[in-house]
Amino acid sequence: MNYLFDPMPTFSIPVQGEERQFPVRRIFCVGRNYADHIKEMGFQPEREPPFFFTKPVDALVADGSTIPYPPLTENLHHEAELVIAIGKSGADIPASEGLDYVYGYASGNDLTRRDLQFALRDRGRPWDWSKGFDASAVVGTITPMPGKEFPGEARIQLTVNDESRQDATIDTLIWKIPEIIAELSASVTIMPGDLVFTGTPAGVGPLVPGDVCTVRIDGLAPVTVRIGPRK
Ligand code: MN
Repeated sequence: MNYLFDPMPTFSIPVQGEERQFPVRRIFCVGRNYADHIKEMGFQPEREPPFFFTKPVDALVADGSTIPYPPLTENLHHEAELVIAIGKSGADIPASEGLDYVYGYASGNDLTRRDLQFALRDRGRPWDWSKGFDASAVVGTITPMPGKEFPGEARIQLTVNDESRQDATIDTLIWKIPEIIAELSASVTIMPGDLVFTGTPAGVGPLVPGDVCTVRIDGLAPVTVRIGPRK
């Protein structure tokens, strides 16, 4: 096949104990999936079910990267998240079979232009411009756990310059892993290579140039990024 210019390269993530990389297809994210975070955003968890949004695949950032402080924001926020790596295709998957589609898990950071998100939200406009900017999808090395639920007692923690900002346990998720897969696959056909950010607990806050931000989830490789100067 001849192309007018080079097609998009395949983006991929390292896998623990495996020489081959996990090729990434799409990036889905769950919004408002921890009650304490919903409250800090000014909503009532009982009345606001979780929902999905997406990021472009070329927004992926690997562990150890330096990210330029993005444009169109004065309030870049961190969001520590457990990320599901999907290993199998399916649609209309019942929650009871959701785990069959899990390849593994990774630590992630859903970087967000919070001021832009609120401005768009308040005008009833789509959010994607606040979420899908360059280098906004931080994902660490994947740990293969095919078919397994992620342990609920595992802690998810985020530090900025070694100071604790977010600290929760995975069992406080509103939609659990199998439910997320059921809900997502009711809307789109999921495919191997898809990633799903599962939502962030309370404690989201600003990052400024020079900050070093690490997400740690028990049982997974941590993921660290440094915020560089403005582009
Ligand atoms: Mn998020």
